[in-house]
Amino acid sequence: MTFGDFRVVYLGGMGRSGSTLAERLLGELPGVCAAGEVVHLWQRGVTDNERCGCGTDFGCCEFWSAVADAAFGGWSKIDPRRIADLRASVDRTRFIPQLARRSVPEAMRRDLAEYTDYYTRLYQAAARVSGCPTVVDSSKHASLAFCLSRRDIDLRVIQVVRDSRAVAYSWTTLVPRPEAGAGSYMTRYSPARAAAEWNTQNASLQLLARGKTPVLRVRYEDLVGGVKPTLRLISGFAGLTLDEPGLAFVGGGEHGQWAELGRAHTAAGNPMRFTTGKITIRADDRWQTAMPGSQRRTVTALTLPLLRHYGYTGRDGR
Ligand SMILES: [Zn+2]
Repeated sequence: MTFGDFRVVYLGGMGRSGSTLAERLLGELPGVCAAGEVVHLWQRGVTDNERCGCGTDFGCCEFWSAVADAAFGGWSKIDPRRIADLRASVDRTRFIPQLARRSVPEAMRRDLAEYTDYYTRLYQAAARVSGCPTVVDSSKHASLAFCLSRRDIDLRVIQVVRDSRAVAYSWTTLVPRPEAGAGSYMTRYSPARAAAEWNTQNASLQLLARGKTPVLRVRYEDLVGGVKPTLRLISGFAGLTLDEPGLAFVGGGEHGQWAELGRAHTAAGNPMRFTTGKITIRADDRWQTAMPGSQRRTVTALTLPLLRHYGYTGRDGR
């Protein structure tokens, strides 16, 4: 199999940092196919038959059925439990130090090759079926980015960063998961846990950037503050050809921006993936008034070095 005919843009970072919005916007660009959080596709899509971003049950989605046929000869030919086992043996945050080495330990090598084979075949098939050479995977986990970086594919990683206080606040709130049925909600973290995870994911992606994989850091706040310039920046990084008509789905100015979103076959991820039509884009800064002061101070203290590094705080740490 050759890997010269597709490219993967991987959205990495801590959950609730705006990666779903970034993916939906990227998915509107010419030649780009937004696949959703592929890391969860095997369980939530193939096994649990949750809804695709197009609204159809995953098993009935024509796009993913065609991708499965092209990649594996159908979903029945793969065993999601095998992929879960492989994931447990290579795609974990605790394995990043090994994955970051020049040479991966012998014991991991075979599992890593088999595990990433599923992804590369899926990306290649998604590119072929959609007719879009660039596939966006918004799986977010730094560990999967490291796994994929070991493959001989055109991989470009976008580190989506958002203020840790906003992220931690979001992780304390209850967000329903409509695709999983009534009473199902997205995972919640305590502010301290979210802060620790934010540090880990972002520091790991910075480590990845020190190797050969191209990594572009994009702040959520800059994206929502200037959609067009940020998409131009990302397009340049991702090697996309983008002209003004290609950005016609974005409009507005300083006092409010909007984007017109079509249907996308995003396999798993934040409920925002079901949104279609015209959406207003503005910074979600509820945390600034709704987050208890004690939580805010905790998260600020725990994440201060990187918060400063990313330009979120002044010298006084506020
Ligand atoms: Zn679909």
